[in-house]
Order: sequence, then structure tokens, then C-alpha cells
Amino acid sequence: MEFRLIDRIRERTAQGRDDVRLGIGDDAALLAVPEGQELAVAIDTMVEGVHFPRDTAPADLGWKALAVNLSDLAAMGATPAWALLALTLPRSGAAEARQRFVDAFAEGFAQLAQPHRLALVGGDTTGGPLTISVAVHGFVPPGKALRRAGAKPGDVVMVTGTLGDAAAGLHLLQRGGVDGAQAAYLVERLHRPTPRIAAGLALRERASACLDVSDGLAADLGHICASSGVGAEIESALLPRSPALLDLFDDASARDFALSGGDDYELCFTVPAARAAEVQADLARLGCGATRIGRIVEGEGVQVRAEDGTWLEPAHQGWDHFAA
Ligand code: ADP
Ligand code: MG
Repeated sequence: MEFRLIDRIRERTAQGRDDVRLGIGDDAALLAVPEGQELAVAIDTMVEGVHFPRDTAPADLGWKALAVNLSDLAAMGATPAWALLALTLPRSGAAEARQRFVDAFAEGFAQLAQPHRLALVGGDTTGGPLTISVAVHGFVPPGKALRRAGAKPGDVVMVTGTLGDAAAGLHLLQRGGVDGAQAAYLVERLHRPTPRIAAGLALRERASACLDVSDGLAADLGHICASSGVGAEIESALLPRSPALLDLFDDASARDFALSGGDDYELCFTVPAARAAEVQADLARLGCGATRIGRIVEGEGVQVRAEDGTWLEPAHQGWDHFAA
């Protein structure tokens, strides 16, 4: 259905790749997985009013719908290749408004797809409440993917970039006061997260466990602990926070955003202590940097030590999709 919309998407996302034998336009795409590679696949859905505010710019939605998926590939140490896009657009409103939405959405999507040489090879277009699903496919050498399982007591816990910016940006939007460059920076971090693809590749064969932080550091590091059968101790004083976050919020709020805020799409990973400095230097060269925030211990669960040495009760353990 809606062939003209599909054409508009195809024109704006064109990407030449030899491994796409047949792209958008037939009943299915035909893709050639390179010899000797495993296929890493992931899908994420964003629903208006649930995963993004109602008035989010369509170009930002295009970027973010792809970014959250590329972040999953980054967390596996996979190289992105192909994507599918399922778009559900409101039936109400004029066809021209739908066209404008699709044009801007596809531009935002392409802005991120192009530097990663990612080809959009198909999808689905339907009517209903605004919902965006993207599925991505990437390659990884057999047995080399980064996993949540594998962290060992004594490993160092590290995180790329800074934490809490996106949650702070959302807080500013909801409060209705986005004034000045620092506030704009935090909102940009919410709408246009940077998937850490190069960092994920650099961590292959070095990190003992890895995931991307989408639901908040405390909750997501908890997944590494559960999968690995270990515990983690985090020093809240070490959590990397941006100048914008520290300038616009008090210390306790900045800490809570960094610990429990969602939508960061940074990588949280563990490395044997002996390799921490080398990994840190490599990620610094890649531009995102990496900060040591704690260590893996025997036991279970994530414990967070406050600046004064006392153990914190995490205020919230991240995002509950089924909360009222
Ligand atoms: P079918 O009924 O066979 O599924 P569609 O009309 O849904 O065909 O889709 C026609 C072609 O356009 C297919 O190749 C499909 O993958 C592609 N397509 C549909 N919607 C999108 C979209 N939102 N983004 C990219 N490709 C799409
Ligand atoms: Mg279809």
C-alpha cells in the first residue's frame, strides 16, 4: 500500500551495496551474507507518547529509530549492513502531511544510515497510531560477538561517553523550558543518540561482557550481572557526566539521571583489569572515550556507593514498559 510513500523513502535512503541482490520493491529482499560471517539481527519499536513525545520532529524520529537499533549491533560488536522499516502512520490528516512526515523521517534516517553504509532493503507501511519498528542486520566473525554473559570477578566495569544526558533532556522538554545551548545539547542527546559502532568493534576479543544502556545504567548493568552470574560495585563519584548536565542540575539529580535515566545508548562493558588502560586509550582515540566506574565482584546485583562511602538505594531500577 501507499506506493508513493515507499518510493519517497527509497529515493532518500538509496545506498549501493553489492550484498543487496534485491532491495525495496519485491515481495522480499534478497541478501548475501558474506562468507564466514555470522548474522547479528535486532529489532526495536518506538510508539508515539510512549517512547517519544508527541511533537518530536520527524527527522529526529528517523535518526533515533535507526540509532537505537545500531546501538544493539554496537553492543554485540557487529558491523551494520541492512535494515527493514515498518511504519504505521495515523490515518487522520491529509496525504500531503503524511508525505512531509515521510520525507523528513527518511532524511533523518539517511543521515545516520549513510556514514554506516547501511542499506534500507524493505519494510511495511500501514495506517494506525504512529509506530516505528526498525530491524537491523549486521555481521560478526563466528564466535566473536560481545555478550552479556562473561563478566568475571575482578573485571573492571566501564562505560563510553557520558550518562544521564538524554533523561535530563526529556525532563527539560516535559518541564517546557529548553533555553540555551546546554539545554539544547541535552535534548539533542535524547533525540539524536550516537550508536557506538566503532567502540563495539574495538571491544571484540577484549571486553568480557557488553551491552548498550537503554533503560538506565543500574538496570542494564544488572542484566550483565544476571547473565554472568556475578555482582557489580559502582562508585557514583566516577559516573561520567557532561558539563551541560552538571551545570543545569544539582549533584543528586545529575547522579540519579546518570544512574537510572534511560535512552543513553552508551556501551557498558567489563574488561579484565590488566587490559583496562589499553582499552581506555583505544576508545579515547575513537572519540567517545571510556570511563572506569566500578568492578565486578562475587555475588549478584548492582550496588552503588555514594560519594560519602555509604551504599545507595537505587531510587528506580530503570524503565518498566508495563507500569500504569
Ligand atoms: P507486500 O504487500 O508484498 O508486503 P508492500 O506493498 O508492503 O508489499 O511493499 C512493497 C515493497 O516496498 C516491498 O519490497 C517492501 O519491502 C517495501 N516497503 C514497504 N514499506 C516500506 C517502508 N516503510 N520502508 C522501506 N521499504 C518498504
Ligand atoms: Mg508488506
